Amino acid sequence: MLEIAALSHFYGKHQALADVRLDIASGEIVAILGANGAGKSTLLKSIAGLVTPTSGARIRFEGADIAKLPPHQIVERGISLVPEGRAVFGELTVAENLQLGAYPARARAGEEQRLAKVLALFPRLTERMTQAVRTMSGGEQQMVAIGRALMSNPVLLLLDEPSLGLSPLLSREVFRALAQIRESGVSVLLVEQNARASLDIADRVYLIESGRNAGTGSASDMKNNPDIQRAYLGKARAPTTASQPSP
Ligand code: ATP
Repeated sequence: MLEIAALSHFYGKHQALADVRLDIASGEIVAILGANGAGKSTLLKSIAGLVTPTSGARIRFEGADIAKLPPHQIVERGISLVPEGRAVFGELTVAENLQLGAYPARARAGEEQRLAKVLALFPRLTERMTQAVRTMSGGEQQMVAIGRALMSNPVLLLLDEPSLGLSPLLSREVFRALAQIRESGVSVLLVEQNARASLDIADRVYLIESGRNAGTGSASDMKNNPDIQRAYLGKARAPTTASQPSP
């Protein structure tokens, strides 16, 4: 459904992405792992049309070239971004934030059913519909942000660090919701500092280092890869020789 090739981006003279390629098939959860500053957010922003790739970049979505489209047209094609830091409207209520998500033309039919699905996914939003979002916890605000993105009727959801700053309990709730979102037919591209949780729900993984592809594979292979375990899962290097008893 999404095919990216030769994707580069510069902030001034700094090259944040260099010749990146990535594919997502329909119904997949794909995770991107990489250190701070590797270019993961820039990759998501390039797909969403928030930063412009250098010429020659190819971003094809459902067969059409979207590399030069403005963000609102990309949303109309069915790609929705939940940005890092959520970008919810704090002074507005939960209901108003969710309504704003349904603004794209593709979302107007079926708005009520979609709202019902969002509330089924995040039941704790139901009793908070009239609450100002700024008064909610970080995890609840993340649910509003994901809910708002779902209200635009996406077929591909991009998420930038959805569990950042959340309690373990609310993180689990967010990851459970992502798995359910995929079950409902929406594909997911996920950037996450919680590598363990993202490897648990992802089908495939891309590694990005210094703006470049540094590896790709199935999530299960990645989980068993000692380099990945060391770099992302906090596992120590296994001893290469059996330890000798001290004399
Ligand atoms: P993190 O995990 O820390 O969010 P990231 O992998 O998402 O990092 P990006 O935010 O995409 O990385 O940033 C990639 C590089 O581009 C970094 O070196 C960053 O400092 C730089 N960068 C990002 N946004 C801008 C900007 N608006 N202007 C200049 N440089 C930027």
